[in-house]
Amino acid sequence: MLTLHQDDVLLDCRAADWRDALDQAAASLAEAGRATPEYRHGLHEREAQSSTYLGNAIAIPHGTPESRDQVLATGVRVLQFPEGIEWHDGNRVHVLVTIAAQSDEHLDILRALTHVLDREGVAAQLAEARSRAEIIAQLAKAPIVARVDIDTLCLGFPAKDRFELALAGAARLRQAGCVTGDFVAAIVEQEPVALGQGLWLASSSCGVTTPALSLATPEAAFVGPKGPVNGVFCLAGQGEAHLGLIDRLATLLDAGDGEALADADAATVLARLAGESARAETARARVLNAHGLHARPAKQLVHIARSQGLPIKVRLLEGSAETVSAASLTKVIGLGARRGQTLVFSAEGAGAGEALKALVDAMGDGLGEKVAAFDERRDVETAPAAPTPLEPLPADTPHMAVPAAPGLAIAPVFVMRAPRFDYPERARDLDAERGGDGVAQKARLERALREATEQLEALIRQAKGGEVAQILSIHEEMLDDPELREAAHEGIDEGLSAEAAWWRGIDTAARAQEMLADRLLAERAADLRDVGRRVLGILCGIELPTPPDEPYILVVDDVGPSDVARLDTAKVRGLLTVRGGATSHSAILARALGIAAVVGAGERIMTLENGSDLILDGERGRVIPSPSKERRERAELRLKEHQARERQAYAERFEPGQTRDGHRVEVAANLGNTAHAADAVEQGAEGVGLLRTEFVFMAHAEAPDLDTQIAEYREAIEALDGRPLVARTLDVGGDKPLPYWPLPQEDNPFLGLRGIRLALTRPEILETQLRALLVAAGDKPLRIMLPMVKDIAEFRAARAIVERLQEEIQAPDVQLGVMIEIPSSALLAPSLAEEVDFFSIGTNDLTQYTLAIDRGHAELSAQSDGLHPAVLRLIQMTVEAAHAKGKWVGVCGELASDPQAVPVLVGLGVDELSVSLRQVPMVKARLRELTLDEARRHAEIALAQATSDAVREALEAL
Ligand code: PEP
Ligand code: MG
Repeated sequence: MLTLHQDDVLLDCRAADWRDALDQAAASLAEAGRATPEYRHGLHEREAQSSTYLGNAIAIPHGTPESRDQVLATGVRVLQFPEGIEWHDGNRVHVLVTIAAQSDEHLDILRALTHVLDREGVAAQLAEARSRAEIIAQLAKAPIVARVDIDTLCLGFPAKDRFELALAGAARLRQAGCVTGDFVAAIVEQEPVALGQGLWLASSSCGVTTPALSLATPEAAFVGPKGPVNGVFCLAGQGEAHLGLIDRLATLLDAGDGEALADADAATVLARLAGESARAETARARVLNAHGLHARPAKQLVHIARSQGLPIKVRLLEGSAETVSAASLTKVIGLGARRGQTLVFSAEGAGAGEALKALVDAMGDGLGEKVAAFDERRDVETAPAAPTPLEPLPADTPHMAVPAAPGLAIAPVFVMRAPRFDYPERARDLDAERGGDGVAQKARLERALREATEQLEALIRQAKGGEVAQILSIHEEMLDDPELREAAHEGIDEGLSAEAAWWRGIDTAARAQEMLADRLLAERAADLRDVGRRVLGILCGIELPTPPDEPYILVVDDVGPSDVARLDTAKVRGLLTVRGGATSHSAILARALGIAAVVGAGERIMTLENGSDLILDGERGRVIPSPSKERRERAELRLKEHQARERQAYAERFEPGQTRDGHRVEVAANLGNTAHAADAVEQGAEGVGLLRTEFVFMAHAEAPDLDTQIAEYREAIEALDGRPLVARTLDVGGDKPLPYWPLPQEDNPFLGLRGIRLALTRPEILETQLRALLVAAGDKPLRIMLPMVKDIAEFRAARAIVERLQEEIQAPDVQLGVMIEIPSSALLAPSLAEEVDFFSIGTNDLTQYTLAIDRGHAELSAQSDGLHPAVLRLIQMTVEAAHAKGKWVGVCGELASDPQAVPVLVGLGVDELSVSLRQVPMVKARLRELTLDEARRHAEIALAQATSDAVREALEAL
């Protein structure tokens, strides 16, 4: 963001006239290395188009868009002219804020300046200032604005009284980072006061970091002991910053719009809190101007607003919720609207509709500037920071990234570049054939939606169940969402083309989703855009790029889930992406489809030439572009051997898991979906070593009740037909949020309330789950495992519940164990082993906590290697402690399927390996290649190394 610094201020300048002043400003930018001397022409040309005088003795000279090439680095120079200069429009100027900007960064400065324009006496103070600091203090004092946005709202909360709602609002403010725990504590202490119309207010200024307002509404309005409850506002006040919000709240109540908030959606609540009346007509328009709503187009907009003869309000859809008068230049500039953002105009009374239309049309026409239609992809691609040309990847040299799905692929690459959608923004610009009116646009949209649905249905049929089909069904549901359709129709009614209206609806919904700031929901935003592009492609008649007929490795920026689903697995040998981590949707899908994948490989992979050869190693997370003949031959040999081994392993998948010399190591499967238990058996799994029951919870809109859970667990238990099931109790928090279990904002959720710690805060949920597991299992072999246990106290707390339930329902004894995924539990394994029935080592988290590397970290995750000697030592301690007490140990983290790690783990004495379903046959095959002595030697060598690289090298040399 562009900000004003003292170094950029030049005091005491004098100029013969405004031209001279402009030349001095240009020279000063050149001297500061911000622009070439030629930028001067841009400043003059811009001034010739219209005055850059802003008000209160300030002008803001800046270049024309054409002169942007002369900008070397975005920056500002502030020149003070104490004697003043007569500007060419007749105004007197004391300060020039001269801007060299490569894009629309100057809007930030402009926005900060607008508050100066409203203040009396600023002109004189600027003229008389004797220090740079004084000038900056006058110019850069941006007012603090209280926050109210989608993140501070908490709508439809399942609460039964005002206090709970007040607390939900406070928790939301805390999650949004506006308040600390002190604020929440202060809200707990007080009784919300009545505002009327069923609305209540709880407020405090204690622990406020950013003033903000939250509204919590109940699932359904109710009548409490003190009257009806439609919603509770929670106000974090600070200084005077929140007073504007209070005014707007009062206006809302005066207008009688309070009751309707009870079941309003977020957009409506924000509109009302912004000061938009329920009776007003509204219209939206996207800012198309390349540099946003800067002074010149803003002037034009204000001029049109003023000529309508009725008050018109405007707000920025993406901004903080405040409606301002569209007739005030400073206020309109103060919105800081950038290209692509949306303005919402509102007006009441006779003639409102026409007035709004005039504004929307003027916006579409560019407000006196030449504008191009907005296209999300292109606009994002051509966004400010001009991309520096990428260095191509060197040939025959390994390039490391994140391993996302195992397998080796050798094939030419197909680099898929995102299609560009070109379409007119306004319906009237469409040719007659495509129908330049709203009715025709709606019909086009309906056709495209139908076609998209048909495409999805065909893909779902092809996908034949599993994750792919599930995600595509979510897309189908999204297409059917009446709100999306309504938003698009609204856009069409405003005169937009079907394409522009549809994409605006998608984009707005996706942004709202992204704002929820949790990983799973953010992925839903990617799904929305994905489904949006499908419809856009149909509307624009753009075929997505066609891959070659021969087998290939797909190289792509990031793949949307439906892109992966479209992949023809017979042809796609591998997947390489610029972005994404091992936990992204695309990586999960690639694993489900059995396509080798390396992700998060960086922009440079997009320089790969279509058709050039690539070796992709999904196990090690590396790619080798244009390999030498020798390297390619070696890789081909490896691939052939690998394929032969895979075939052999599959044929022998029902053999018991054991080493060549008969040492038994059970090979089980990790499951997220109980419906996959039968597949696990079919892959040769000897049981389920980890059922991630949180996925059962995530698949429901609210916590599944006892019967639902019994049915789900029973499905797995029955499919296992006597094989053991290790069910992990609910492990949410950290990277696995549950939408209906809101958690307080935490600086570091991985070190916060998660796993068993969290479950023990809601014992009723844990109890229902345990009861469901015990009932579902009956006398079948069930093992229950607790996640994220750090010491014996947590185990005992959970065991007490299990024992009580067993007694109550007369359930047979089950094994109760803990996951070892926190170093403390490995260190304390001897005390745990006294009481638990088994351990299962979660190497994913154990590695994360031992090496202090976030397991989802895009850049560091390659270093987060479970074969690190520190992790291996913790595993060794765990096994020794367990065996000393006659207890068994499994490993259920990803390390259990790593071919280099299998012998090490067996050598360390691990009794069970639980791996992803498709890996079962290969892990069994790997066991058969070993003797126990060989495995012990692998372990010994690995433990003797100092780093994970050294471990891998030493093992490779064996
Ligand atoms: C682990 O941490 O290794 C583990 C198996 O649990 P999850 O990956 O589900 O956190
Ligand atoms: Mg874990």
